[in-house]
Parts: sequence; C-alpha cells; structure tokens
Amino acid sequence: MTDFNPDDVHLSSGHFIDGQFVSASGQAMGIKRPSDGQHYAEIHEADARTVDDAVTVAEARRISSGWSGCSPRERGAALSRWADLIEKDSEYLAQLEAVGSTRPVTDARNIEVPFTAAALRFYAECADKYSGDVFPTQHSSLGMLVPEPYGVIGAITPWNFPLSMASWKCGPALAAGNAVVLKPSELTPFSTARLAELAVQAGIPSGVLNVIQGSGKVTGNALVTHPLVRKVSFTGSTATGAAIMSQAALHGTKPVTLELGGKSPQLVFDDAGDADEIAERLFLGFTVNAGQACVSGTRLIIQKGIAERVTEKLIARCQKPVPGMTWHASTRYCPLIDARQGEKVATIIAQSVAQGARVLVGGKRYDNTKEGWFWQPTLLENVGPDNVALHEEIFGPVLTIQTFTDEEEALALAQHAVFGLCAGVHTVNMPRAMRLMRALDSGTVWVNRYRRTWDFIIPTGGFQGSGFGKDLGRQAFEACQRYKSVLIDF
Ligand code: NDP
Repeated sequence: MTDFNPDDVHLSSGHFIDGQFVSASGQAMGIKRPSDGQHYAEIHEADARTVDDAVTVAEARRISSGWSGCSPRERGAALSRWADLIEKDSEYLAQLEAVGSTRPVTDARNIEVPFTAAALRFYAECADKYSGDVFPTQHSSLGMLVPEPYGVIGAITPWNFPLSMASWKCGPALAAGNAVVLKPSELTPFSTARLAELAVQAGIPSGVLNVIQGSGKVTGNALVTHPLVRKVSFTGSTATGAAIMSQAALHGTKPVTLELGGKSPQLVFDDAGDADEIAERLFLGFTVNAGQACVSGTRLIIQKGIAERVTEKLIARCQKPVPGMTWHASTRYCPLIDARQGEKVATIIAQSVAQGARVLVGGKRYDNTKEGWFWQPTLLENVGPDNVALHEEIFGPVLTIQTFTDEEEALALAQHAVFGLCAGVHTVNMPRAMRLMRALDSGTVWVNRYRRTWDFIIPTGGFQGSGFGKDLGRQAFEACQRYKSVLIDF
C-alpha cells in the first residue's frame, strides 16, 4: 500500500439531499487538514431552511419509496449491497477519511473502511431477526407489542472516527425502517457524504439518507429541533449532549441516544502478567487516535508491587512513536484534530503541573511537525485527588498514574464523579475481576484487554455523564424502533 497526494483527492461539495449533492448559500466555513493545518476545502453551512428541506424529503421518501413499509429482508439486502459498495470503494473512502481526519491512511484502509462495512452488514442481518412480542393474555384475546420505525432520525457525529460513527448511527436506524438526516462534524465532512452517495447506488431510495453540512450551533440545532425529527442520536462531548437533550425535550419531547465523554480507569493488579505486554496494552489504550477516542483509558491505577516496572516500560514505549502525515502509508502516530484541541491539551497539562503533577515523559507538542498538532504521549504522576487531569476529558494522549495497595482503594480511585464510560481490569484473579466488574460504574468493562473487537453484537454506551442508550448491538437496533401495544378481543 502506498502514500497518496492529499491535493489529488476529489471532494464533493454541498449537502447530499434526495440522492444528489445540492449547493447551499449558507455561511462558508474553511476546512483544514489536521496533519499540516492547511486549508483544503470549504463547506457552506446548512441553515434552518436547508435542514428543513432535508428532513421534509426524508419523511416523504421513507413513505413514498416504501422503505418504512417494505419487508425488513429487503432493507437488509440493500444494506448488504451498501456494505459491498463501501468495500469496492475502499481506497477512495480511505483517502477521504485520511485527508481530513486524524486517521492514518493505513488504518483507514485496514480498519475504518472494513469496520464500517462490517457494522452495516451486522445491521442488515438484524433487520429481519428481531421483532416485537406476544403476551400471555386470556384465550379470548391477544396482546402484542408491535415495533415500528420512528420516522426521521436526526444523527450527529463527531470528528474522531467519521466513517465508523456514521455506520453506527445509520446501520440500526435504516435497518429498522427509518429515514436518517445526518450531520457530521464540520471538521470532517467529506467521507460521510460519500457514504450517503454509495447508499443510493446500493438501492437505498433517494432521500432516505441525507447528509447536511454545517456547525453544531446552526445546522445541528436546526436538526435537533425540527418537528419531523422524532429521535436524535448523538456522539460527542458531555456538554453538547446535555444541550441537545434539553433542546430535544423542549421541541417534541423526543428520545435521545447519547454517547458522550469518558475518563476511563485502567486497574492493574500485581498479578496482571508480563510487564511488557501490560505496558503495550496500556499504551495503546490511551494513544489510539492520539487519545481522541471516547473510550480512551486515560487513568492508570496500578498496584504498588508492579507499578515501577510497568511505568519504566511505559516511559520507554512513549518515546517510540514517530508522528507522520495521515496520507503516508507508514504513519502510525496521528495528529490532534486542530489547534483548538491542541491548545486544550496543552492548557490542561499546564494546569495539572501547576497543581503538583510531574511529567514523566512527553508533556509537549512534537517540535518538528509544522502546523499540524502532534502531541507527545504524556505520563503524569503525582496527581492529587483534585488534579484537573484526573477529572477533565483531555482527548489527547495523556495518562495519569496513581498507585494503590488493595482492591478497595483501587475501586475508590476508579470511580469518577461525572463519567462512567469504560474501565479496564487487568488481573488473573477472576473472582476479583468479577467483583470489580459488578462494582464499577461503567457502561463497559474490559477484563485483561483494552480495546473493541469486531463483535458488533456487543453494545457500547456510558453511565452517568457518559450518556445513555447504546450504540451497536441488538440494543441500538431496538432503540431505533418504537413499540405499539395492541390488544385484540376475538
Ligand atoms: P462536540 O460534542 O461539541 O461536537 C460533536 C458534534 O456535535 C459535532 O458534529 C458538532 O458540530 C455537534 N454539535 C455541537 N454543538 C451542537 C449543538 N448545540 N446542537 C447540535 N449539535 C451540536 O465536540 P467538539 O468537537 O467541540 O470537541 C470538544 C470536546 O468534546 C473534545 O475535546 C472532547 O473532549 C469531546 N469529544 C468527545 C467525543 C466522544 O466521542 N466522546 C467526540 C468528540 C469530542 P460541529 O463540531 O460541526 O460544530
């Protein structure tokens, strides 16, 4: 696999509405490449009128095309064809993803694109596998629970994994017979628009999936508050999730699925195993996508007997990454999304140090990376209970280190006042792992691993300020349907 030239990648401009790209007259917004900070494209923001066009078309087409009413098997077949086309278009999609987001092209080719296609295939399978219920009523009547689509689902995705996030939102919503209007982050608009174009080529009726471009404040807000949008599915920060939830409450009392931020602990016990292997697992857990992942394992809580050995190995591992442009096939270590994110990471580290934290390695930007914001993997120790780095979602490659003596202390350190997205438990003592699995306030607990698999049947989602509802799994499919109770007297 080879490098590509970012200037050669064709970008389709405009919003994808009713099966075609349409231009908009809204405010122009410049888009920059994370790798070198170069301005490479412009989008025009969808204002309330354009959002209304997209939502109105979605509502009309889901009915007139038969999408909501057809056999679920037909919907599944269309989603499968969509997945096939995504695989055929792999190179172009990978380049679109790599030019504008933080995903290195080799990861985009080997992970993002096949993962996106596989997630859609999973929901193609769901379409005719899960249904409602029949209840044990008296013999002269029949009680049923009948699932039906909501109508139009408004989806809002972040910039960290644009393709995967789009598949997590569109797969279950479309399989369940809804139409979708999706707003990707204004920072990463293009790969998602291409997905929608491929959906139409695969036979998903025009207008059933529309992609609108623009900022959260204008376009996102118009989508959430539109009266024909019956449900909202959002992934992003906890603050924005809360704002969306209140808007959804005020404008139609519509349900929301919120996949929000995290500050996930990694509990490592003395018996966790080989120190090299543990260090590698921890390293990947907080540096994948340069730490810009909601599930990043950013708080290491480690038992005193193994702490020094693992920390030494982590320090050495943190010095190895070589930052590179996302369009180079050799790149493994990627940039932060933009200067705003870089400044956020820098500010929190400075505050943490002012509060007494010690930087063991990293703590700054790589100095040979021009306009791109490449941040060195950073270890912070001596973080007191009030230290900002323990509380804030940094969304950069920053790991705090705390030590503990026993399980009780480990659990107390692990619980977070706000977040409850994910936790890692590393020990061969299974009763202990199971006790912690029960006790941790986390939507996901990984034991002796710290990363997702391609088992799409396992849902993902947070507790507390990390949101509610699930992406992936049967649960996400079921959450894209409403259930009608029916009682028939014979
Ligand atoms: P946001 O949560 O603000 O943005 C995520 C998505 O929501 C984007 O598409 C954004 O649009 C949209 N949005 C923003 N405001 C609104 C609104 N009022 N109504 C509807 N949609 C809205 O994240 P940011 O990009 O601003 O990043 C800030 C911080 O959020 C990061 O530092 C990180 O800590 C966290 N984050 C967490 C993510 C996660 O997966 N948990 C993902 C991304 C960020 P647009 O950006 O186009 O304006």
